[in-house]
Amino acid sequence: MSGPEIASGVQALLGGVRSAASPFRTYLKDLHRRFANDSEGRVADYIPELAKAKPEWFGISVATVNGLTFEVGDAQTDFTIQSVSKPFVFGLALEDNGRDHTLSRVGVEPTGDAFNSIIKLDTKSGRPQNPMVNAGAISTAGLVKGAHLTERFNRLGGMLSRYAGRSLPVDMAVYTSERSTGHRNRALAHLMLNFGMIDPNVDETLDLYFQQCSVLINARDLAMMGATLANGGVNPLTKEQAIAPEYVQDVLSVMYSCGMYDYTGEWSYRVGLPAKSGVGGGVVAVVPRVMAIAVFSPLLDERGNSVRALKVCEAISKDLGLHLLAHSPNRRRLTELLPGIVD
Ligand code: GLN
Repeated sequence: MSGPEIASGVQALLGGVRSAASPFRTYLKDLHRRFANDSEGRVADYIPELAKAKPEWFGISVATVNGLTFEVGDAQTDFTIQSVSKPFVFGLALEDNGRDHTLSRVGVEPTGDAFNSIIKLDTKSGRPQNPMVNAGAISTAGLVKGAHLTERFNRLGGMLSRYAGRSLPVDMAVYTSERSTGHRNRALAHLMLNFGMIDPNVDETLDLYFQQCSVLINARDLAMMGATLANGGVNPLTKEQAIAPEYVQDVLSVMYSCGMYDYTGEWSYRVGLPAKSGVGGGVVAVVPRVMAIAVFSPLLDERGNSVRALKVCEAISKDLGLHLLAHSPNRRRLTELLPGIVD
């Protein structure tokens, strides 16, 4: 099936589900209403093109492992994936290189530092601490195989598209904006080259990284991408395998320990779900074997996490008993709202 055919097939399925009234959609609508007037945070502007985002944009989408989707607000407004791409590319690097080689180039330890920090890279081994911060993500992009940039990007973009169930484009304006201002990322890459942690085609790898961050998605896509991880790597609608099943736990593990930058400890304590955020305003949280929640709102806190997304995910996790480490999770409300999804 070609990209557009997949897209229209998925569209038809989603359309059918979306029109159905459901108690779960009513629950999401109430949540959306609760946080829509919360205008805390600021739109990212260190990548000039991102400053054009509208503060009022706010969408929530949920996709379940059995292919149901629910959305409210601006769930079909496009935004760039940014750092949310990082766990998915980590999965591709693992597929291309295996665990041993991948982990020789990037660790799985949280940094507690800002996502673009350079400090520990210099003072420690030169090996970036994890694939969710910029240094580790650039190293990870360096591990994506292909004869040249186009082939490498086609493989990477194809992988993200399989997760989403449709062919995802690149926002060229964001790509060129980031490419021309990404001096800090260039510094990280060249420092890693100095330590022998990245192959010498650094400029090509940086281009690949900037393109990966500029892939355009919406909250609906992001929920489907998360639901694919929740479903063992198989897209719930297209049934395509987006990642080899043996690497799903690697991806979810680094999301759990490192996915929300230097808020990850707090997030794991409060929300208890593997997740990833990006400065485009997207956050995805995965409930393994059940569903994924995607929130889009470009107002960010000082760490670069979407403020409304933090609040929505925390509320959903508490309301539906989703914390993975709860001793006896109370999933009664989830069962009421989504009968048949959990036992
Ligand atoms: N492309 C962004 C950067 O490299 C990604 C950062 C993010 O989403 N936190 O700075």
